[in-house]
Amino acid sequence: MGLVLLAPESALGNTNVQSVLTSTTAGSLLAQAQTGYPQRQDALINDYGGVLLPADADRLRSLLEQTRTTAGIEVVVVTVPSIGVYETGDAAIESFATSLFNSWGVGDVQRNDGVLVLFSEGDRAVRIELGKGYSRAYDARMQTVIDEYMLPRFRASAYSTGLYEGTQALVGQLTGPPPTALEQLPWGWLILGLGGLVSGGVAIAASKLLLNLWRPRCELCQVQMTNLSDTEAKEHLDTGQILELELRSVFHTVSECPQCHKHTARHFANPITPFSACPSCHYKTLEEVQRTTVREPTYHSSGEALVNRHCRHCDHGDQQTITLSQLRHSDSSSSSSSFGSGSSSGGGSSSGGGASGKW
Ligand SMILES: [Zn+2]
Ligand SMILES: [Zn+2]
Ligand SMILES: [Zn+2]
Ligand SMILES: [Zn+2]
Repeated sequence: MGLVLLAPESALGNTNVQSVLTSTTAGSLLAQAQTGYPQRQDALINDYGGVLLPADADRLRSLLEQTRTTAGIEVVVVTVPSIGVYETGDAAIESFATSLFNSWGVGDVQRNDGVLVLFSEGDRAVRIELGKGYSRAYDARMQTVIDEYMLPRFRASAYSTGLYEGTQALVGQLTGPPPTALEQLPWGWLILGLGGLVSGGVAIAASKLLLNLWRPRCELCQVQMTNLSDTEAKEHLDTGQILELELRSVFHTVSECPQCHKHTARHFANPITPFSACPSCHYKTLEEVQRTTVREPTYHSSGEALVNRHCRHCDHGDQQTITLSQLRHSDSSSSSSSFGSGSSSGGGSSSGGGASGKW
């Protein structure tokens, strides 16, 4: 299976024949030991392909730990010798990544904000798989990360550097300013994706330009509407929506017809905002104001905390009891059983969003 997949690749790039053969041999041994998706042995880095240099593994781990602590986002980096050695029946890296993501339950179960970076040297392919919580606008951002930070390094066989620098760029994209409302239009990215497939960079640039020029059309007058600035838009939003706009928890875009002055509004929820929907006024303006630990989690049992929440819009306040996840041994030298079962995972899931690249 592995050989069949790899044969065309080794024929194309003579310089890589040696490394491909080596990983195939390693892969065959692995395939004898286990079939099915690999077990998660570490919370952050699972280097089954053996491509990370110690220095890169160290700085990658610091980056991923920091991302988990400060942004609350779980990013897992996985390398495999090839997809084929696991004999899962997956023909492409995309379906393998989605199933692996879901079997490991990457990310928070509520927010579904986990990310899995999958690198396969044998398939010369990389995949960034996103949790369900991310809007499709993030797919395009991940494609940029792959195209600009990963593939150029991978083509030069600098796998370790490419994985670190690519993941660093990825984290920057996830924790930076959220996509603009226009970026969030799924059809726009569809055009962008198709353009990219057809003729590469030029088509992407042209599609981006088209996307930026795009305005909704008035149904009555058939003329293009004008997108209002945030200040103008506020005149047409209610107090809760204005607050959401200011808190960047929901983006409201208002367009106006220059002839009949009809307005249309579009709303896009920010998938990674700390604000959640208020049970009283229903705006996404509820924030956690205080967290008191009642019982610390241990390596053997979960903990408990009291969370005080407050709505910035309607002043609603409440207190919730939440469960703190049981502590896990994340050191790769520890027993592999700590990450063996799905029940110890965060429980996040993916519906196949993300981006991929081959070199
Ligand atoms: Zn107006
Ligand atoms: Zn009109
Ligand atoms: Zn108006
Ligand atoms: Zn409220």
